[in-house]
Amino acid sequence: MGKRKKSSKPPPKKKRPVLSKVFDCPFCDHAGSCSCELKRDAGIGKIECNVCNATFSTPINNLSEAIDVYSDWIDACERANTQAEEDVGEVGEVGEEYAT
Ligand SMILES: [Zn+2]
Repeated sequence: MGKRKKSSKPPPKKKRPVLSKVFDCPFCDHAGSCSCELKRDAGIGKIECNVCNATFSTPINNLSEAIDVYSDWIDACERANTQAEEDVGEVGEVGEEYAT
């Protein structure tokens, strides 16, 4: 007898936040103009800005997400900027080509 009180909430599924795959471009400053592609088979993560065509690619592993590729890009940019400003020749593993 009586209604069984059921939670109106759906059962919590495995928490999986939606990870953004578009990012702000560090070169042209457009918001959300960079899209990231994860080529897990090739072990390469690639980001491309569809406004200024800046590209960046970096090795990824199975745990890498788009945001990691983007962070790598930002790091590489900052490193490049630091080097340009201070000309310290800091050793980094940038090894990537930059669109100039
Ligand atoms: Zn751009």
